[in-house]
Amino acid sequence: MTNQDLIQSHSKYIMDTYARFPVAISHGKGATLYDFDGKAYIDFASGIGVNSIGYGNEAWVQAITEQAMKLGHISNLYYSAPAVRLAETLCTRTGMDKVFFANSGAESNEGLIKLARKYSHDKYGPDRGTVVTLMQSFHGRTITTLAATGQDVFHNHFFPFTPGFRHALAGELDSVKAACESDTCAVLIELIQGEGGVLPLEKSFVQEIAALCKERDLLLLIDEVQTGIGRTGTLFAFQQYDIAPDAVSFAKGIAGGLPLGGFLVNEKCGGVLGPGTHATTFGGNPMGAAAAAAVLDILTDEVLAEVVEKGRYIQGKILEMDSPYVAGVRGAGLMLGVTLREIGHRALAEKLNDGGLLALTAGSDTLRFLPPLTITCEEIDAGLAILQSVLQK
Ligand SMILES: *Cc1c(COP(=O)(O)O)cnc(C)c1O
Repeated sequence: MTNQDLIQSHSKYIMDTYARFPVAISHGKGATLYDFDGKAYIDFASGIGVNSIGYGNEAWVQAITEQAMKLGHISNLYYSAPAVRLAETLCTRTGMDKVFFANSGAESNEGLIKLARKYSHDKYGPDRGTVVTLMQSFHGRTITTLAATGQDVFHNHFFPFTPGFRHALAGELDSVKAACESDTCAVLIELIQGEGGVLPLEKSFVQEIAALCKERDLLLLIDEVQTGIGRTGTLFAFQQYDIAPDAVSFAKGIAGGLPLGGFLVNEKCGGVLGPGTHATTFGGNPMGAAAAAAVLDILTDEVLAEVVEKGRYIQGKILEMDSPYVAGVRGAGLMLGVTLREIGHRALAEKLNDGGLLALTAGSDTLRFLPPLTITCEEIDAGLAILQSVLQK
């Protein structure tokens, strides 16, 4: 089979909802991928931050294989071991109290929204269900998480959207304060807005939001679907902000490529969603949980410290390239955005693909890198060499 064979059959049977690159991936090892024609690519994308430990990691494959032979699935009406082990690790490494497992980022964020609305309803009664989010945010593709997303382009076609969201300006506390009217139950933010353009929030701004939430008994909800699971150099990005969130969602990188998400809550919120209030068939599925436990075993504090080092190294090298197209670099750990001028982000990403480097776009003018956290220095240098040759043209 060639790339072209696959692409043709794909278009015949699969709906055309993605702006796909003409790249068909067959397999990978480490942070290197191969297409059906045998061409190699350095991966600075990780399937949008999912393949956190790269491809073909032996401990991960073994964990999944062993679990598949024991127990592939069991309903949440019974107890099973992998989810317990994973939950204990997540709580211990974050200081959070409890976890709910889901399947995707959007579903995990829906859980955060339900948590906040129920917390508020239990305590204050109805009419206090509005969630404040930020402009340029991205929280998912369900009708409710699209409504939460603070970008007008997403508020189209699918009317009516779920009511109960208000969007404030990122970086402007007065705007957040004004949005938090008496009907508000929570503030939901990403700490680095990923899809919006790799836009980090100032630490002081986040701390001021945290103080505001505390003062008004609003839940502080952090969407760490992209920033979580080591991506920014700590297990969760909130651990760099000296804040104590009420709830934190995760998904993308948690299981290294299997679909798993969820959210962590503090002690105050641990009992809010009681039996019958929230559920999902596959949540905490043994396969996903076993894979995630293997990922967390690999992402030790030493590996996370290397994520910080690798990120700094890449940022420095890009600035040294002194390309007419590069306006700046931002981000943390291995979540990096290169702001561009005189070239479109999509056009540049396509040129990089041709050169053998997979990269993502974000916002309107940003090239985004989310390489596997375990990428080697050799692979980083190989990727940067491709980037340099394309940026010099
Ligand atoms: C990707 C993403 C989502 C949506 O996750 P899905 O798994 O695609 O539903 C939500 N929030 C953020 C910050 C994301 O990056």
